[in-house]
Amino acid sequence: MGATVAVLPGDGIGPEVTRSAVAVLHAVRPDITCVEHEIGGAALRRGLPALPDDAHATCERSDAILFGSVGLPEYDSKPLAERPEYALFVLRRDYELYANIRPVRVFAGLEDASSLKPELVRGLDLVVVRELTGGIYYGKPKEQRNDDGVESAVDTMIYRAPEIERIVRTGFELARGRRKHLTSVDKQNILETSRLWRRVVERIAPEYPDVRLEHLLVDNAAMQLVRRPGDFDVIVTENMFGDILSDEAAILTGSIGTLPSASLGTRPSLGAARATAGRQFGLYEPIGGTAPDIAGKGIANPTAAILSAALLLRYSLDDEAHAARIESAVERAYADGMRTADVARGSAPVSTNAFTEAVIARL
Ligand code: NAD
Repeated sequence: MGATVAVLPGDGIGPEVTRSAVAVLHAVRPDITCVEHEIGGAALRRGLPALPDDAHATCERSDAILFGSVGLPEYDSKPLAERPEYALFVLRRDYELYANIRPVRVFAGLEDASSLKPELVRGLDLVVVRELTGGIYYGKPKEQRNDDGVESAVDTMIYRAPEIERIVRTGFELARGRRKHLTSVDKQNILETSRLWRRVVERIAPEYPDVRLEHLLVDNAAMQLVRRPGDFDVIVTENMFGDILSDEAAILTGSIGTLPSASLGTRPSLGAARATAGRQFGLYEPIGGTAPDIAGKGIANPTAAILSAALLLRYSLDDEAHAARIESAVERAYADGMRTADVARGSAPVSTNAFTEAVIARL
């Protein structure tokens, strides 16, 4: 046992909800060493880079990163390298965090927080797996042009088979551990990258005969997600489609404060021996931002951060038992009527700390 986690709370509500996540993590695994650093706007204000060297060094010797969120309005007009968000950019780049995993769950009693009818989202439990380091966001050429006096611009969508293979395997592996249903989303009727994507998926599928595979075109997938969300188990897709679909899936729950994420990647210094299944290096964070409108009030929903810690245990520390224990404690806190302000809907809201204590009491 024993592991080291780099804790990077960041800005706004980041420190408040990360504190909750660390408290829950330590309640189940007191052997984990958490090493905390100021990053983002908190570091910039002290004249340091958004990801200071000592924070980066801690990530280098950690098993995983527990991240809060970064971003402050005062830096919005600065170039990327001088903004708090640069910390996240550097971590995604340096650790090639290619697999973004977003579980979307609607807890019992929170169905009316969704903008869909409660009967459509009751018991909803799906995962979106998004390729995070390739595709149109990174392909070259990528530029603004002047073509014979006409203003124009180009982005390039490019995928190589190995990039597709690794993310598709992540999707199949996840589906295998759940309801064994994988939906691969592409646009193969139009895009060459999608034709390659589908070919690679078909090539890998025989290795997972226990998983039912379905292909959907992205426009249809966007529709089905709001028509029959309960039919999905694991969705795997490329970067831009995943960006859009994962946000669409997220709003099914009604509050951004309940949704965790994992971004899995590689860390050269970790060594091949430790990068085995169930112990992949990763960064874990709520999908929401720094919520400047509620920061410092003690009312933020810590669920996303707490569930991010559960994902950290599951994927980077191969500790399914404690991950499931945390998830079940959160579920029971909701079942017992604990609600922070974002999901209170008329009932008396509890504070960030009270919700955290309620989860710890149910572990
Ligand atoms: P946001 O997610 O911070 O806030 C959107 C709305 O959701 C706000 O009303 C906020 O109060 C609410 N909200 C978010 N998390 C909540 C929680 N845990 N509990 C209760 N309510 C919650 O998005 P935004 O306002 O567009 O962005 C604010 C800042 O966060 C910006 O600087 C942006 O760049 C940054 N941001 C960072 C990340 C990240 O670090 N990964 C992600 C998104 C946005």
